[in-house]
This record gives sequence, structure tokens and C-alpha cells, in this order.
Amino acid sequence: MIIYKFGGTSVGSAKRIKKVAELVKGGDKKIVVLSAMSGTTNSLVEIANYLFKKQNEIAANLIQGMRTEYKKTIKELFSTDEFLKKGEELLASHFDYLMSFTQDSFTVHEEKAVLAQGELLSTALLHLYCEEVGIESRLLPALAFMRIDKDLEPDDFYIKENLSRLLSENPDCPLFITQGYICRNRYGEIDNLKRGGSDYSASLIGVAANAKEVQIWTDIDGMHNNDPRIVEDTQPIKHLSYEEAAELAYFGAKILHPSSITPTKAANIPVRLKSTMSPDAEGTLITAKTSGKGIKAIAAKDGITAIKVKSGRMLLAFGFLRKVFEIFELYRTSIDMITTSEVAVSVTIDDTTHLKEISDELEKYGTVEVDKKQSIICVVGDFIKKDKGVAKKVFDCLSETPLSMISYGGSDHNISLLVNTKDKANALKELNRLFQ
Ligand code: ADP
Ligand code: ASP
Ligand code: MG
Repeated sequence: MIIYKFGGTSVGSAKRIKKVAELVKGGDKKIVVLSAMSGTTNSLVEIANYLFKKQNEIAANLIQGMRTEYKKTIKELFSTDEFLKKGEELLASHFDYLMSFTQDSFTVHEEKAVLAQGELLSTALLHLYCEEVGIESRLLPALAFMRIDKDLEPDDFYIKENLSRLLSENPDCPLFITQGYICRNRYGEIDNLKRGGSDYSASLIGVAANAKEVQIWTDIDGMHNNDPRIVEDTQPIKHLSYEEAAELAYFGAKILHPSSITPTKAANIPVRLKSTMSPDAEGTLITAKTSGKGIKAIAAKDGITAIKVKSGRMLLAFGFLRKVFEIFELYRTSIDMITTSEVAVSVTIDDTTHLKEISDELEKYGTVEVDKKQSIICVVGDFIKKDKGVAKKVFDCLSETPLSMISYGGSDHNISLLVNTKDKANALKELNRLFQ
């Protein structure tokens, strides 16, 4: 079994959906995991926001606008009246359902049901198209096997049990199609794996189905060595270890959802990043092996807040750091970077939901400074201790960029630097000299 995951752009038009069908027909047995067509989840988020604000008329207009776009898609996708009619019935069921939310007040639970429509639509369209062109396939409803537990973590046992049962109901089927991103929570309600979560779905499905490989098909030919949205002349990387890929994904390489490497790494399943735009390009292979030394790639994560606690007296006392960390634990806020000196400790967080409470608690131990709009730049590679000069190379490139925190040695794969977000683009461009 091989898992093929296609992102939003890869299913973003009738032409692209046809291309996906082409790519997945024949060959090994597959589970195809789809995102919503590009733009759809953003539109659904917008619709939900208007519904929360009780601006139901605006929401209704947006739903109508989406429906018109999807109508154009099915006209291009299906060539027979029979399937065009089926496509219209499909759109009617999803868009009438969305419209029903404009009649009443709106809840958080209903929001999740609204957000789920994108993946339900894209998978149903691919399935119908396969039927029209004679490619045998089955829809696997993700809501019947994908589940998160009380800590919002995947319920691995439930996922495996239910996915295996559904697969075994159709032992001869060569091609299963399922939704990424969507799941149920511990109450059985519709939920999701957060934005960009289809990669995570693919990984979890790969592990549950004991797949030979998980392939993430997107609009670029693999993980590049710098952010292609900002830097020109970035290059695809042929091979990364799980650790390197996980660091890059966690620190902002949007091509992979931050959690998506964890399950495949634990199960030792190779992950391959491929481009639907140029399927023959080699892409990136991610495995347990480390290959090549030195600096491999750079990524950056925005939306970081730095918190510094200054307290000469307290810091010398043992137990101080524990007390500081306990505050973050209490508010379930994870720390990305940490640096200490004799008089201060600085940490960074990206979830600021409880920033006020955390700062108030930290005030008990010293003066607290908060800096918002920061970015972490993460330099990833295989930095074995005996390799000299890696840090020097990085800092030489950044002689013009003010750095507010530096973290080195936490792992053999990462040097992290905190910069003001306004300096990020420039820093990434300067760091590209590392590859020239
Ligand atoms: P999908 O919709 O297929 O999930 P995403 O938009 O989530 O696609 O991810 C692919 C995008 O990630 C690329 O178009 C690229 O702009 C962006 N990206 C950011 N950093 C990197 C990187 N280091 N390598 C490759 N792509 C990256
Ligand atoms: N459709 C969802 C999103 O846009 C999930 C995904 O694309 O991975 O965030
Ligand atoms: Mg994505």
C-alpha cells in the first residue's frame, strides 16, 4: 500500500483533478488523501466568521459564489450528462447544507462541520470522475476512522482499528480515496487537524495502513533549501533525515505540516515529496538515514513572541527554571527557543492565547519583557560536533541582521536564531550565500 496525498493546488481545478486521476491509476494499491480545492478552506473560514458575527446575508452570498465556482468545475470535469447530473446533486447536497447554517445562530461545533465541506467535496468529485472514466475506486470516509483524543492527539488505536476494518471490507479495491484534515474528536463531533493538516492525515493513515511509503504531492518539486516564497534560486534537496525534515516543517517550511513527520518517523515509513506540476522531478526523500554533512536548508517561522524574565537573585537559585516552566505548562503553552544568562532567561512561544496570564505569573519572579512580531530562523543540517566553523559561516552571512536570541547545540541538526520579523526576508536572502 502507498499513500498519495494531494494538496489544494493539486486538486485546484477540473484540469488538476483529471491529472490526479491520471497519476494514481494503476500500479500499487493506494490510498489517496485529498485536501480541499485551493481557496476553499479559506472561503469556508470566512463564511464561518460571518456566521459567528450574525452577518448571515454576507455568508449566504459567499456560499452562493462558491457554488457558482464549483458549478464551473463540474462542467469542465464531467463529459457525460449522467455524471454532470450526479455532480450537480453532489453540489446541491453540500451547498444546501452550508446554506442551512444561515438560518439560525452558529456554534463552534457547527463551524467545524462547515470547514469539513472542502475535503468532502474534493474527494467526492475525484471519486465521481474516476467512476466516469472507468477507474475503479472507493471512498473511505475519514470521519469513520480519523479521531483525536482528549489531548487533541491522534487516537492511534482507534484509527488503525477502524481504517483496517474499512479496508478489509473491500480487499480487492486498488484505489481508496479519503479526506485529509478532517476527523472526529473524543465526543464524536466533527473536528480537524488544524490548517494544512492533510499532510498529517496522510502520515497517520500511512502508519495505520502499514504503508510502504507516504507521498506528499504538491505544487513544488520537494523541500527546497530556503523559502522559495522569499528567496530566488532555491534548490530542491534530494534527501533529508526525519529529524531534519521535522525541524524544517516545525520551523516554517510550509510544504509539510509541522506534526506530519512524527508518525512516519516512529514507524520508519519513507516520506517522498513530489510535484504534481512536474511529476518526473525527483523530489525529496525523507528516511531515517542521514546523508551529506553540513548545512542543508533554512526555514523561518513567523508569529513568535519572546518573553524575557530578568532576576539576578532568583536565577542563581536552583528550582527557578522549574518554576518558570511550570507556568508555561499550566497554560499548556509550548516553548520553542530558550536561552539563559546569569541574570535572565528568555523563551519564545507561538501560541499567545494565555500571554497575559503567563506574564502576570512570571512577574512574581522578576521583570518581564515581551517582544512580539519576532521570527525564528532555523538552519538545518547535520552538524556533528567535530565539524568546525558551521556557526561562523552562519554568523558571517548575518553581519547586517540584529539577532535577539541564538540557540545552538540543542540537537545536531539545528541552529535557531531569533530576529525581528521585519528583518526576516533580508536575513533569509543573506543566508542563501551559504549555498553558493
Ligand atoms: P499544499 O496545498 O499542496 O499542501 P502548501 O501550500 O501547503 O501546499 O505547501 C507548498 C508550498 O510551500 C510551496 O508552494 C512553497 O511556496 C511553500 N514552501 C515554503 N517553504 C518551502 C520549502 N523550504 N520548500 C518547498 N516549499 C516551501
Ligand atoms: N484544506 C485544509 C487547509 O487549507 C487542510 C490542508 O490543505 O492540508 O488548511
Ligand atoms: Mg499544505
